[in-house]
Amino acid sequence: MLNYKIANFDRIVSNLLSKYDKPYNYASVDPSVDIYRMAEANGLKVRPIQFVSPKKKITFLETDGTLTEGSIRGNHAVIMEDGTVVMDEQDRGNEGQIRFNIAHELAHVLLEHIKLPADCNANVGLSRRKRPSLIAKVFPFSKYRKKEEEADHLAANLLVPAYRFQFWEDKADEEVAKVFKVDPKCIKKRQREIRDELTELKAAVIQNIDAPNAKLSAVS
Ligand SMILES: [Zn+2]
Repeated sequence: MLNYKIANFDRIVSNLLSKYDKPYNYASVDPSVDIYRMAEANGLKVRPIQFVSPKKKITFLETDGTLTEGSIRGNHAVIMEDGTVVMDEQDRGNEGQIRFNIAHELAHVLLEHIKLPADCNANVGLSRRKRPSLIAKVFPFSKYRKKEEEADHLAANLLVPAYRFQFWEDKADEEVAKVFKVDPKCIKKRQREIRDELTELKAAVIQNIDAPNAKLSAVS
C-alpha cells in the first residue's frame, strides 16, 4: 500500500511549489525554493527573521497545541502566538540553518501539529502552561519526537524536492548544497531519504499494476 506520509508530502510540496515558486525545469540553474514566500502564504511571519537569546523568556506555540512560556533553549526556532517565527540567536548569519528552521516550522503548520490562530483574538481558547515540555527532553522518543522527525522530513522535502534533486545528483554534495541553499549535511540526509522515497513509490506503482489482476483472479 502506498505510504500515506510520502504520498502526502509529495502532494503538499508540489502544491506549494506550483503556487509560490518560480517555474522549474531541467535547464534551470537555480533550484532553490522560495521558502520565505511559502511560509508567509501559510500565515508565518519570517521577514525580517527575529532572533532571541536563550536566556529570554518568551511565549510560543508548541506541537501539542498549547501556548508555552519559556526559553527557546532546545529548539532552533519556535512560532509565537501571532505567527512570528523566532530563532535562537546562535543561528544568526547561518543561511542554510535559517532556511531549514523556516521549513521545519512551516512543516509543523502544514502537518497541523501547530494551528495558527485565525486572528489575534482567536487564541483565547488555547491552554497556557509554564514550560512542562521537559517530557520531550526526558523521553526523546515520545510523541513529540515523532512529530519533530516528521517535520524535519517534510522540511527537507520542501527545501530539496526529489524531482529537482534528480538533475543535480551527479554533482558534489557541496555544490548541490550551495545551489539549493542548504547545509551539506541536509544533502547527505536527503540522498538517503530520496532513495527510500523512490523505493516506496516504485513499490506502490507495482502494487497498483498488480492489484486489478489480483481482483480478476479472485473473481474467476
Ligand atoms: Zn519542531
